[in-house]
Amino acid sequence: MNSRSEASPQSSEAETSAEMVREFEYVIIGGGVAAGYAALEFVKRGVTDGQLCIISDELVEPYERPALSKGVLCLEAPARLQSFQTCVASDEESLTPEWYKEHGIEMILGTHVDSVDVEQKMLLTNAGESISYRILLVATGAQALKLGEFRVREPDAENLCYLRNLADASKLVRVMQGCVGGEAVVIGGGYLAMECASSLVTNKIKVTMIFPEAHFMARLFTQKIASFYEGYYKARGVEIIRGTIISSFEIGSDSQKIVAVNLRDGRRMPASMVVVAIGIRPNTSLFEGQLTMEKGGIKVNGHMQSSNSSVYAVGDAAAFSVGPFGKVSRLEHADSARKSARHAVAAIMDPKNTGEFDYLPLFYSRAFKFAWRFYGHREGEAVHFGEFSLGSAFGAYWVANCRLVGSFLESGSKEEYEAIATATRLCPKIEDLDELERQGLGFALSVAPLAPEAEPPQSKSLAKTAPPPDIIVHEAPLHNWHAATGVLTAASIAGFAYWYGRKRRRW
Ligand SMILES: Cc1cc2nc3c(=O)[nH]c(=O)nc-3n(C[C@H](O)[C@H](O)[C@H](O)COP(=O)(O)OP(=O)(O)OC[C@H]3O[C@@H](n4cnc5c(N)ncnc54)[C@H](O)[C@@H]3O)c2cc1C
Repeated sequence: MNSRSEASPQSSEAETSAEMVREFEYVIIGGGVAAGYAALEFVKRGVTDGQLCIISDELVEPYERPALSKGVLCLEAPARLQSFQTCVASDEESLTPEWYKEHGIEMILGTHVDSVDVEQKMLLTNAGESISYRILLVATGAQALKLGEFRVREPDAENLCYLRNLADASKLVRVMQGCVGGEAVVIGGGYLAMECASSLVTNKIKVTMIFPEAHFMARLFTQKIASFYEGYYKARGVEIIRGTIISSFEIGSDSQKIVAVNLRDGRRMPASMVVVAIGIRPNTSLFEGQLTMEKGGIKVNGHMQSSNSSVYAVGDAAAFSVGPFGKVSRLEHADSARKSARHAVAAIMDPKNTGEFDYLPLFYSRAFKFAWRFYGHREGEAVHFGEFSLGSAFGAYWVANCRLVGSFLESGSKEEYEAIATATRLCPKIEDLDELERQGLGFALSVAPLAPEAEPPQSKSLAKTAPPPDIIVHEAPLHNWHAATGVLTAASIAGFAYWYGRKRRRW
């Protein structure tokens, strides 16, 4: 880190408020999932004392955000920050505050970046400090969508909760503790609403879920998949109200707490607390008019580099080309944040040896006793497989343009998840959907061993792999193969269960 005493010629605010400009080689804006993984990759690639600065408006070092709706909401044994700091979800080091100090990384916490001038390579914080960089990594993620954005007047009520960061989670835990035995209204039908509802029920709070779509997770689930989960939620006492939205809140006589929500269809739902989980908005406004945007995110190339060659973007804030059809997408998932961050750092530090970001999207969630993963793209026709019942592995494939492009699996073993990931990555040709349905999970298990490597290691995902082979759906029944592998599979499932149980909680 260096200092110089002149401010940016472009930034008049900087000229008046900052005497000194601190200079860093690399600056990361944001202190979430992507920032943590980027920091680790910078250190692995030899970044030295004072070269890297992370600026985050959160008060703590980067953590695995998915833990907020899982372990943290468990009132009996809440997960503590120390157990979910990045990068534990990938079985890497836990990056403690000491870790950042030891590696000479300048952490500027509780500080918002108010403006960035990408031409001058200079930013200004809300503390009035100007910081210059050679390379900027944008890891600003996203913020929760507010009901106010949908013209619903939001009261400043102490029992109205959102969930995006640790402060939100702490408030939600406090409100839940005061609501045991009461009634919660959860607004939203996506994965976050489902996870929150599950935690509320587990903590003995009666839940009503309200959302406008026809079923849970309308952007990903098919009707059949959603019906299964909705059936389970109902069996756990959750009331599900679809096809309508909230119109207003009713405040109690103390004017501090919501006591009911009114719905557009005229119903009134009493509530001792309300959780709003209706989606997110990427934090990209700093760069509007300065960088090329697409799909609401900062458009980046295969090196995660934006339209300004000194600015890279990763995680929820980035839009990039993914999948067999090369569509530009903005992914809002933890795995994408982790891997895009590492890839960007590889590209920054070693551009010649870093290929295009060859990413297979992975989205996962856990609620109640369920755990699912989705790989790839939800496009084309869905083909379901397995027995849709508690404890069974079941799922769906998506086939577009006669290619397998997406796979969903509930309650899979480690090997089964790896198999659907590998099969989806291979993108095999599918000529007969009935046959695919008949083979079910067996299809992925039979295709996966044909891949050059079952699961590409991280370093491999940094370079573009060969185009997918054409694999025709097996015409012959797979019964013999299944019999031969049955014992092995059973053994590996048992092994995975043991491994899973022994390990720290996964985020
Ligand atoms: C409760 C919860 C549960 C989730 N569970 C799952 C899950 O099970 N599976 C899954 O795949 N995904 C899950 N996600 C999504 C996943 O966590 C995100 O995709 C991931 O966090 C994105 O990482 P990111 O680094 O891009 O953004 P974030 O992790 O959101 O980090 C962005 C950081 O930037 C900071 N910031 C933003 N603007 C500024 C600024 N101007 N100045 C300073 N700092 C700034 C923010 O405060 C934050 O620290 C979950 C998300 C939430 C909220």
